Amino acid sequence: MIIDGKAVAAGVRAQVAREVEEFVAEYGFSPALATVLVGDDPASHVYVANKRKACEEVGISSVHHELPADTSQADLAELLGGLNADNGVSGILLQLPVPDQIDGDAMTELIDPLKDVDGLTPLSAGRLFQGLEGLVPCTPAGVMELLRVAGAELQGAEAVVLGRSKLVGKPVAALLLAGNATVTQCHSKTRDLAGVCSRADVLVAAVGVPKLVGPEHVREGAIVIDVGIHRTDHGLVGDVDFDAVKDKAAAITPVPGGVGPMTIAMLLVNTLKAARLQQAAPGVPA
Ligand code: NAP
Repeated sequence: MIIDGKAVAAGVRAQVAREVEEFVAEYGFSPALATVLVGDDPASHVYVANKRKACEEVGISSVHHELPADTSQADLAELLGGLNADNGVSGILLQLPVPDQIDGDAMTELIDPLKDVDGLTPLSAGRLFQGLEGLVPCTPAGVMELLRVAGAELQGAEAVVLGRSKLVGKPVAALLLAGNATVTQCHSKTRDLAGVCSRADVLVAAVGVPKLVGPEHVREGAIVIDVGIHRTDHGLVGDVDFDAVKDKAAAITPVPGGVGPMTIAMLLVNTLKAARLQQAAPGVPA
């Protein structure tokens, strides 16, 4: 089975559009995403434009703040503080990376956790690890949705996560654990990577190394989710050698068209969820 991330993402977006209508009917305003982009990185401009377009398509309004590349950290902090205080803003997305004079982690930490639609503040991460309600990073949330659609039975399953970044690997592992899988997390110092990975019923690859995962890493009948994206002369490839692995796996995501489309879809889910959390807890300080 090839897991069709485009189709799953389209379903998620359609569901968000319906729920946004309900939200507007209930509260009289639409959820709003504030996007903040510092500098001239062309890829970041494309990502933010795609996110704003996706918002528009489901009825989420977006307000864009574009700052010059030489913006000071103090000025960015002031903008984020204003967005935190603005009741018309449901979610805040600070597009990373930011220019060198700005500490991206410190700026991310300033975002009100109730508006943290990327789920990257330490408080959101802590809530995830404690099993508390909160906003979960978009790509990991997308991985879980793909596993759900693929019919993965997580309870008691051996799950192996390749990678331990705070953006992908760590939150994916926390979500799999919350789903009662037995989770092993691999990284660059793991011994016998193929041996560990080949135990997995569910294998999630987020290593950032093109085609690292081959048939020797995959157990017959495993579900394989490939988070990696690499631009090569032959087009986009993932962290998994798709052609070499696809006949061994019971289900596998392609690149492109697997995890990629899920990230923006889950951003929309998070923005709506943030708006709802704020309505449930009006005036609650961060
Ligand atoms: P990252 O921050 O570079 O983390 C990579 C992780 O993989 C690290 O934990 C690293 O271990 C581990 N690793 C690197 N080489 C390894 C090896 N040879 N064997 C075992 N482990 C190894 O990357 P990331 O941000 O998590 O992203 C991972 C991939 O997903 C990238 O290709 C990225 O482009 C892609 N991505 C896609 C989306 C999407 O929307 N589809 C979103 C985010 C990221 P150490 O911790 O020991 O260094």
